Order: sequence, then C-alpha cells, then structure tokens
Amino acid sequence: MSTLVSPIIRDTQVFELIAQEQHRQESGIELIASENFVSKQVMEAAGTVLTNKYAEGLPGKRYYGGCEVVDQIEQLAIDRVKELFGASWANVQPHSGAQANTAVFLACLKPGDTILGFDLSHGGHLTHGSAVNISGKYFRPTFYGVEQETGVINYDTVEETAHRERPKLLICGASAYSRDWDYVRLRAIADSVGALLLADISHPAGLIAKGLLNDPMDHCHIVTTTTHKTLRGPRGGMIMLRNDFENPFGIKTPKGDLRMMSSLLDSGVFPGTQGGPLEHIIAAKAIAFGEALSDEFGDYANQIQRNAQAMAAAFVAKGYKIISGGTDNHLMLIDLRSKGLSGKLAENTLIKADITINKNMVPFDDKSPMVTSGMRVGTAAVTTRGMKESDMEQIVVYIDDVLMNHDNEAKIQVIKEEINSWMKAFPLYN
Ligand SMILES: *Cc1c(COP(=O)(O)O)cnc(C)c1O
Repeated sequence: MSTLVSPIIRDTQVFELIAQEQHRQESGIELIASENFVSKQVMEAAGTVLTNKYAEGLPGKRYYGGCEVVDQIEQLAIDRVKELFGASWANVQPHSGAQANTAVFLACLKPGDTILGFDLSHGGHLTHGSAVNISGKYFRPTFYGVEQETGVINYDTVEETAHRERPKLLICGASAYSRDWDYVRLRAIADSVGALLLADISHPAGLIAKGLLNDPMDHCHIVTTTTHKTLRGPRGGMIMLRNDFENPFGIKTPKGDLRMMSSLLDSGVFPGTQGGPLEHIIAAKAIAFGEALSDEFGDYANQIQRNAQAMAAAFVAKGYKIISGGTDNHLMLIDLRSKGLSGKLAENTLIKADITINKNMVPFDDKSPMVTSGMRVGTAAVTTRGMKESDMEQIVVYIDDVLMNHDNEAKIQVIKEEINSWMKAFPLYN
C-alpha cells in the first residue's frame, strides 16, 4: 500500500490535540449561540474520500470528469433542503455564511451600490456592511438599529432610513437579536424603494425550518443561511429562493440579456467567489438536512426555544437585564452593566469554570468591542446534549455563582469540578 494513504508514522501530535478538543467540548457547558454539536453521521461524512474530488460546476454540469456520484450527493442535499424550507431553488455550495452573502452581493449589486443592514453594534453581522468586511468596503453601507428604550427594531425607523438612503439591497437577520422579524413589513419597505430583500437566517434557521418562527421564504427575495448553528449541520452556508425571480426581477447582464436570479446566484458562488465545492461537506449537509426533516428535529427545535425562555426567565429572576426583555428564538443578549461587570470579564471568568459564552456589544454600548458590556448566550448546543428547562435554571445558578465570585479562584475551581461531573450526565459522542 502507498505510504501516503497508509502512513508509517501516525500524526499523533494533531490527533492528540483533537482528542483534547473533544474532551473540552464534552466536559464544559457550551453556550455560544452560534455553536452546536453535529451527529456522528454528519461528522463521518465530513471525513470521507469525497474530500478528494474536484467538482466545479453544478450537478450534471461539471467542469471535471468522474462526478457521477458526487452529482447524486449534491442533488440529494439540494432536494432535501428545498423540502425542508419549501424553497423552489437552492445552492448548497457556499463554504460558509459569509461566502453565501458575498455571492448574493456579487449577483445583485455593483460596486458602490447602497446596502441597508442591521447595525453590527446592535446585533447585526459583519457581512451586512461592516467597514472591515467586503460588504462595507465595496458597497455603500447604511444601517438601522434597535430603539434604545425597548431594545427592539422599530420598523417605522427602518422605513424612514430606507427612504432616505435608497438601498439596492435591504438585509435583515442578525447574530445577536433575540426577537422575531416582521418579513411582511420589511418586504413592503423594500418594494417601496425598489430594493431587493435578503434574509440572512444563519442563527434561527433550524427554528424557522420547523415553523417555530416567522417564515421569511414567502416574503424575502433571497434567503441565505449557515448550516451549522441551530440547523445542526456541518460548518457551511447556502442560498435559497421561493417565490420571486421566475423573471420579473431578472437582472440585466453586461451583455444586456435578462438572466434569472437563480443562475446569477449560482455564478455568484462559482466562479464568482469560490472554486471547487467541498463535496464531503455537502454530503454532511445532505445528512443534516435529512435529520432536520425528521419529527425528532421538530421536538429538538421546540426544546431549544423552551430552554431559551426558561434561561431568560432564570436570568431575569436573578436581576440580570436582557436586551428587549426576553427571547423569541434560541439566544439572548445580557447587559451586564447593572451587575457592574464587563463582557470581557464575564467571558474570561466563566471559561475558568468551563462555561463558554462570548462577550458581545449591547446596543448603545459605551465600551469598546474588545471589552463590551454584554454577553450572548444560546441554548442550541446544550439542548443537543439533552438538557431541559430545569437544567437551564441550574446553568444560570452556576453562571451567577461564578460571576458573583469572579475574584475567588478557589470557589471557581470548585464550581468547575461540579460542572465537569454534572456534564457526564449528558453524554455527547462516547
Ligand atoms: C454566523 C453568521 C454568518 C457567517 O457565517 P460564517 O459561516 O461564520 O461565515 C453570517 N450571517 C449571520 C447573521 C451570522 O450569524
């Protein structure tokens, strides 16, 4: 056998580190709202011979030979995700959520065009117009945000901003917004200024797929998402369409012919912004979409939402301030100023007890992005581990105990050991 495919020396250095990471994931409480734990079969598919295959193009239309099998795999992923979201078209090749959004910009905009997105410092995403991202460098970014008193988006203000800024693309969706979105109103606003409406459902995709939140598909021209957050698939992205673009919104190409949005989006992914698709990850996506189609996933998504509500209530009961007062989805943003703490201190202290959260800007934050006044927590990962509402109350007890004793290393160590043994009751991969 070739020494390349059957190496004489196994790379124990890397595998030892992977084992350490698995131990870290299994022994701690994972509350990062954008993370989740995939099934064993999703991981298995991601580590297969499919990584060897070049398949530039689309199923049945490839630039390489030998694609008969990967064509079937990618088609399966497309068919399943269309069923899952009721989409009429989907591209499952984007390597990440950022790639999916960039492909949409390339398909729909020209450099310098105006985009209107949700303010990053209020919970929006980098790819919706941040100055350090291509979306803010190549286009003219403008923003709407939440109201200071309520922490909720005021759609009248979105409308005023849209009328003032005249965007070509209106973007909704966020990374740290705990409330549902009014897609009907947003579409009316987009139509009133002749903008396209993009919903980036990266965070709540799993809840939307199971009908637990408003459905953007009927109202938004284009929908993008990651596949690895509440949807619980491998790390990746995708783009979907439902109703629009069978032609009225076709966009003129430089040659002057009217092309359908689906083909513009396909080209926006490849060759616009990517090369060969990751067929091993697409196989893992197909499996995750199959899992998400099951009734068990509906129960899972429901439990995520119930757990988030239980966790929010437990935080409020302990005197924590949640932006907007609560949550409709899987996450919440907590303003730590009333407790005299910064997001940085909370993140750095909680990790000592093996509780993983992330510091996060709160709307109208007076601290820098490296410090912040808030922390973001989500329930998708702990729900995958089998936790229920009462476990959320226990987690909040641990968090509060650690934060209220942030300078007591001995006490934090005791809590950490308690957490490590508690987590054994929620086995993950072993
Ligand atoms: C996570 C996220 C993304 C980016 O996903 P990556 O896979 O990290 O590129 C894009 N948009 C929103 C709203 C997100 O929350």
